[in-house]
Amino acid sequence: MSSRRNDRYCRIGLLLAQFAVIACEPADADVAYDTTGGDMEELVVFAEPGAADEDSSQPCITPEEYAVLFADVARNTAALGLDDMSSGARPRQAAVRFEWPLRQAGGADPGYHAISNYVDHAGPGEVLDLACGKRSYDGHHGIDISSWPFPWLKVETSEIEVLAAAPGTIVSRADGNFDRRCSWISGAKANFVALRHVDGSTSYYYHMKSGSVTSKRVGDPVAAGERLGVVASSGVSTGPHLHFEVRDAANNVIDPFVGACNPTITESRWVSPRPYYDPAIVKLTTGSAAPEMPACPELEEPHLKHQFCRGDLAVFTAFFRDLLPDTPATMVVRRPDTTVALQWQLNVSRHLAKGYYWKSWQLPADAPAGTWSFEATYAGQSFTQSFTIAKKGKACAAKQ
Ligand SMILES: [Zn+2]
Repeated sequence: MSSRRNDRYCRIGLLLAQFAVIACEPADADVAYDTTGGDMEELVVFAEPGAADEDSSQPCITPEEYAVLFADVARNTAALGLDDMSSGARPRQAAVRFEWPLRQAGGADPGYHAISNYVDHAGPGEVLDLACGKRSYDGHHGIDISSWPFPWLKVETSEIEVLAAAPGTIVSRADGNFDRRCSWISGAKANFVALRHVDGSTSYYYHMKSGSVTSKRVGDPVAAGERLGVVASSGVSTGPHLHFEVRDAANNVIDPFVGACNPTITESRWVSPRPYYDPAIVKLTTGSAAPEMPACPELEEPHLKHQFCRGDLAVFTAFFRDLLPDTPATMVVRRPDTTVALQWQLNVSRHLAKGYYWKSWQLPADAPAGTWSFEATYAGQSFTQSFTIAKKGKACAAKQ
């Protein structure tokens, strides 16, 4: 068993995933962790440096941007006859409930996102999320949902789609703005959509990919689940994420998650509420080397490999969201006959919104040929990624 602080270079480890490139995330990369079992010989870790240059006094949507946005929404809703929902001029509607506003195109992974920030319910100078915790930043009015892992590859391939969380009418939109932002730049314009709903509330979808925003125009209706665009990092953003924000008919912030420190609602506004901590394995990979996470916004290099020869170096990586203390993750590598070849556990000392752990193994010269599996179990969920080891054939001939 080992337990140590993160170093940039040490032999065992956990990456505090990309604190430097995920929007508005606290720059805190100090965590202890344990691993048990397995061959530690080739384990390597590096920790991202904290996002020291971030200025937490700046919101993901600046006051100036809000002013322009709300003026546009007010103008458009008036022109469309959608305003004045709260005055009694129209029958009051039940509060709209929202579907999850993202999906993974192709959807092969067990997960593809992690929450970076909730709504801040404290006054200026303080931070308080819905659960009376600190998973937010000062003045944040929405929910930041990050693409995870390989967020820039996901932007490149348009993998994470933004969906209308409820039926509505487009009341503001923008497209064509630069979408590879890595630091907060005041005045940077986002690609976004704003939807007015039947109860007079409005949902906002920010930071999308240039050219990805729906071709529908202001005044057009959209259905729940309709594709609005692709997650990227346009506007005041430091990495690919969706900023999802809800306002009521009087333009007050609504936090759709129920919590003791969320005074904005008493009943969840989600169709399928997710827990405050939503622990999950999001991806398992087998590779020829450890995943590389270069400086923002360069594309990550996963070094994926599924077919190995005896003697090859194999790297097993498990990506998680909401790693929690006292909730160990177990990883197992099984031979074709399902017997265990390697097994190890990961246990962290405190919550991590995103993290991954990788372990390398020099495949034995007598490793049984066939289909192997890399399995991870975490928080009651299991996922398996298969790979093959060959002893014959062209690809392996030179090594025999
Ligand atoms: Zn945000």
